[in-house]
Amino acid sequence: MALANEEDMEAFFSDVVRYRPQELNQLASVTKFSRREIQHIYRGFKQECPLGTVDEDRFKHLFSQFFPFGDATKYAQFVFGTFCPPGTNIINFEEFLSSLSLVARGSLHDKIAWIFSLYDINHDGFITKHEMTEVVSAIYELLGHAIEPVLDAGSVERHVNAVFDLIDTNGDGVITLDEMERWCTRDEGNTKSLDMLNTVW
Ligand code: CA
Repeated sequence: MALANEEDMEAFFSDVVRYRPQELNQLASVTKFSRREIQHIYRGFKQECPLGTVDEDRFKHLFSQFFPFGDATKYAQFVFGTFCPPGTNIINFEEFLSSLSLVARGSLHDKIAWIFSLYDINHDGFITKHEMTEVVSAIYELLGHAIEPVLDAGSVERHVNAVFDLIDTNGDGVITLDEMERWCTRDEGNTKSLDMLNTVW
């Protein structure tokens, strides 16, 4: 369906769906996307998710399309966990858009908070070595054949231990948001620290 002008887009946007998104202006005011970008994202979202909401299976399917060389299932599950409001297992367009805005356009603080929530799988405020091992393994699975040499359980363990040596400054075996923020912002403007947490987006 080709949309010629903004009026058509507006008409399309207010199309009859089971779930009706908030007004475009309001979405633009609460996210870091322009009206045009939101319309573009919404078209893609609507095409893939005609009901207007996404559950975990659908999210895994969508996410996997971006990573054809590996298995993105596990990683997609963790990302979905950060997108979902607490206690729910489904996301609507507004939630999808605001999470996307945070990850793609957020401040350094926003990004650190998002990365923390990705690794803190059970959302108790602490990242354990077990949690970090789960997420790092998922990232390796997702990258699949794209990385050489092929990484094994030993390299995951070494990576996790190296990250803990650097970030777990009080040595209590867990990483807090405070420790992660202090480490990632220790040199102003140095976002290389974020690379070490090698999230994939
Ligand atoms: Ca935790």
